[in-house]
Amino acid sequence: MSSDITKPQEITLQGIPASPGIAYGKVFVYIQSSVEVPHYKVDESKREAEEARFDQALVSTRQQISKIQNEVSTNIGPEEARIFDAHLMVLEDQALLAETIREFEATSENIETCFDRVSQHYIKAFSEIEDEYLRERAGDVRDVAQRVLQNLLGQTKTSLSQLAGEQIIVANDISPSDTVSMDRMEALAIVTDSGSKTSHAVIMARSMKVPAIVGTHDLSSKATNGDWALIDGYAGVVILNPSESTLFRYGKIREEKESLESQLLEANKEPSITLDGVAVTLQANIERVDEVGLINDYNADGVGLFRTEYLYLNNDHIPTENEHLEAYRTVAEALAPRPLIIRTLDLGGDKTIPGNPHLFPKESNPFMGFRAIRFCLEHQEIFKDQLRAVLAASVHGNIKLMYPMISGADELAQANAVLSECKVELRERGVAFDESLEVGMMIEIPSAAATADILAEQCDFFSVGTNDMIQYLLAVDRVNDRIAHLYEPTHPAVLRTLHHVIKEAHQRDLPVSICGEMGGDPILVPLLLGLGIDALSMSPPQIPQVRYLIRLMTMSDAQQLAEEALKMSSPEAIYQHCQKFYKERMERFAS
Ligand code: PEP
Ligand code: MG
Repeated sequence: MSSDITKPQEITLQGIPASPGIAYGKVFVYIQSSVEVPHYKVDESKREAEEARFDQALVSTRQQISKIQNEVSTNIGPEEARIFDAHLMVLEDQALLAETIREFEATSENIETCFDRVSQHYIKAFSEIEDEYLRERAGDVRDVAQRVLQNLLGQTKTSLSQLAGEQIIVANDISPSDTVSMDRMEALAIVTDSGSKTSHAVIMARSMKVPAIVGTHDLSSKATNGDWALIDGYAGVVILNPSESTLFRYGKIREEKESLESQLLEANKEPSITLDGVAVTLQANIERVDEVGLINDYNADGVGLFRTEYLYLNNDHIPTENEHLEAYRTVAEALAPRPLIIRTLDLGGDKTIPGNPHLFPKESNPFMGFRAIRFCLEHQEIFKDQLRAVLAASVHGNIKLMYPMISGADELAQANAVLSECKVELRERGVAFDESLEVGMMIEIPSAAATADILAEQCDFFSVGTNDMIQYLLAVDRVNDRIAHLYEPTHPAVLRTLHHVIKEAHQRDLPVSICGEMGGDPILVPLLLGLGIDALSMSPPQIPQVRYLIRLMTMSDAQQLAEEALKMSSPEAIYQHCQKFYKERMERFAS
């Protein structure tokens, strides 16, 4: 075909499939990096204006930092607000400012270039100092310099939602705080160089039915804005500059998939009961209040996990008690009498509030660091606002409370003690709440799994967060694409741990659910049910395929599958065993 000669070559790349769907559109390359600094010469006649522009940017930056400092002081505390003194000091640093002006006078280059050059020099000098305190000043200079540059360039902090619009986002990485505005950005698909199936940005994409592929290594440096790309989120394939015949082929695949999906949606109206008459609870994981409509759309038995940290990520301030209350009440009322399990704040790990180094200091191992309940027990004012709101909302529906990342009995006791204090405070205020509010905890840390018998005495239910549990059990960072192949949900250690937790919980009449991604994977669902899991909570669009399978299997077969799997030693062999079980029942839908 002669017209193909001028067309760019089709390039196919394999990544990790992370959210199903097929998309075709223009690429938007999103690199999370520092501000891009333009370079140009400034005319002699404009020198004064250029210096005035610099002064104005410094004033604006000072105002912005002071505003943040005041907010932090009111919302969190004066101690935490003090970090910004260091930032304000950078703005007073005569050496830095005077040197910028000297550089400008000597070179006539635009003030951004001069300021960037001088501040980079300072950052480098500070970061090479041995003294830890002085070394940390490099970070302060970097933060402030970014802000000054943004002000000089007239950029408010750009968010993905402002940039993308109906395009395929190709990024080196996307943070959960980027994805909070994902509904507004109307992305056709998301492709990231790094990340994994359980990165939080990907979990969000799945809920929103945005196709996603992760682990494409260096695609964001190969692709350019405006390239055309075809994304196959089922197989994890990215095709840059697809040919006509590729587009035609994928058009057919898309039609088939869409037809299967609509059949599944139709069947999703039926109850989730196995062929031998066992009803299985299928719940939804949600991240935002406006996702509550998905519960009805996908016929879910309530919400098994409300990841409330998105209330923090979606906000320019720490939510107030009333804002929490409003959110929980809205969801609880919409669901009642179906349950709403509200998980308390799980910030940290890959979910931090950008620009808040005072709350989330940089850590070498964030997933093993200052996260979730650890953060809450240290910032009790933030935690208590949330707990009081959950309690107050509990009269408006069927609410249950759940703590994330509990590592042992002491931590659970501490969290429960804070909850008791909140109850006392509400009684004093005369605010009604459900006195018998059920309180559960997530089993995500191996130490919690190992002490399930002790923990079961102090709470009402367990929900296993397999996303984290697998990463901690196997020492495989859940967002590191280089070792994604080692992240094996069917590792015997995972099965044995689940088996142990379920046994200890059931002996004490505690129900156990799964709310990690494993619970929405139809290939693994029979294994989980066979092991004795009482409920599954998943991203809403995964419910139809899970329900469909449940209606084609018997619980006794699932129990046999689990028994056999527990005797096997190879993760791969266990996976294949599960896959065989699945395929035999789902022949038409297996791919
Ligand atoms: C999990 O760890 O499995 C879980 C459900 O919590 P998150 O993915 O929010 O860490
Ligand atoms: Mg978790």
